[in-house]
Amino acid sequence: MSKNLTSRAEDYSKWYNELVVKADLAENSAVRGCMVIKPYGYAIWEKMQAELDRMFKETGHQNAYFPLFVPKSLFEAEEKNAEGFAKECAVVTHYRLQNDPDNEGKLRVDPEAKLEEELVVRPTSEAIIWNTYKGWIQSYRDLPILINQWANVVRWEMRTRLFLRTAEFLWQEGHTAHATKKEALVEAELMNNVYADFAENFMAIPVIKGVKTESERFAGALETYCIEALMQDGKALQAGTSHFLGQNFAKAFDVKFTNNEGKLDYVWATSWGVSTRLMGALIMTHSDDKGLVLPPNLAPSQVVIVPIYKTNEQLEIITEKANSIIADLKVKGVSCKFDSRTTHRPGAKFAQHELQGVPLRIAIGPKDLENGTIELARRDTLTKEIVNMPDLISKIDSLLKTIQEELFTKALNFRDAHITEVDDFETFKKVLVTKTGFISAHWDGTTETELKIKELTKATIRCIPSDAKNEEGKCVFTGDSSSRRVLFAKAY
Ligand code: AMP
Repeated sequence: MSKNLTSRAEDYSKWYNELVVKADLAENSAVRGCMVIKPYGYAIWEKMQAELDRMFKETGHQNAYFPLFVPKSLFEAEEKNAEGFAKECAVVTHYRLQNDPDNEGKLRVDPEAKLEEELVVRPTSEAIIWNTYKGWIQSYRDLPILINQWANVVRWEMRTRLFLRTAEFLWQEGHTAHATKKEALVEAELMNNVYADFAENFMAIPVIKGVKTESERFAGALETYCIEALMQDGKALQAGTSHFLGQNFAKAFDVKFTNNEGKLDYVWATSWGVSTRLMGALIMTHSDDKGLVLPPNLAPSQVVIVPIYKTNEQLEIITEKANSIIADLKVKGVSCKFDSRTTHRPGAKFAQHELQGVPLRIAIGPKDLENGTIELARRDTLTKEIVNMPDLISKIDSLLKTIQEELFTKALNFRDAHITEVDDFETFKKVLVTKTGFISAHWDGTTETELKIKELTKATIRCIPSDAKNEEGKCVFTGDSSSRRVLFAKAY
């Protein structure tokens, strides 16, 4: 099976698309730009959800659910947000179908069933949520509101890619309301830090924290914090965003509260989200020409046992051994699957688990049982070792931790080797072709220069890194003065 995968060097984009389909993660659907997430892909997404959900709750947030539809009058209330999303909105205009008198057996929209007010399918939920918060907030005692929702949203994207950019995608969106500007800013940055922590320590994806420039900012936000990751083809990927929305939505929806001095004021807001795009980040950070490579934290099964046998008696003995290994691993919190399918040969099973990125594979045959040893194979390094039976459980336990760490270190080394400091535009253009990755360069701070560079090179400013040092320099394009470097890259 894995033989069929196009190599990354040959055609990175084709490799990605083939991997997503062959590893059984997702496929295109009958709906343009919308995907079917298959059980294996969904199991990985559920692992991400569970950890994020835990982290959100640990930082004081609760889950709730708001409607899929946003009445147009609410949608357009915050002008900048509406303008930003207007170009990619799906809109419901009717609520009924009827038999088509001119086309027997077919249905058509019932012209009598036109909605009085059109409904926008949410591309993001600030509008419907802030309209709701209006009824919830009267005084400072009602604040803060710290809510997250797990949902699907629709953005009518023209050029779609499985997981990376789809017309409908799954995400979580946090929407918080605060009494002070300071509190809202702290919240927006806190959640960006939560995302960074999650990406690095759970997904083993190194990220750069920073803020977006004005032209890349979320429509309606005063500041957008983000985490940016680097994929193996040297393109950047926005992995998560957290927005400080100021009082824009409170003003649009007239959400005022009495503060502790008895004065009326508008409420301060944040929103933050990560989506199924993280599946794309995961794939493009760790995987190789043989298929998916999963960090143990995200693997639906961290270990798989493949029996090698000829007779039923042999299978019975191996099964007994496998069950005891599974039970021992469970105690350690390690998930292990016994692939006892009789419909597939061991070679086909090996190929499938390799393609699907199971971190560790154990093969057990009659000889191993006789010798008291076991063969353990690592997916990430494709190396094998023979382990004595009594050492197996602790070996697996420590190896999974090692794999998790080494995947992060490998990705970090790759990322750091692909950040190039550049001081002139000729080199800037050259590096984008020869080396790719992030370019750290001075920028004069104007949208005009940013857009001109984008037009000439397709590279955009991914972020102004949070840890950018003050450094006097000259803009890589205009030569005007600049006080710090920003990160440019071509991006997904
Ligand atoms: P935003 O609301 O635009 O800040 O986006 C929130 C999160 O969703 C970010 O992590 C984006 O990278 C991600 N995202 C935006 N558009 C899409 C899309 N079409 N498909 C998948 N993820 C997306």
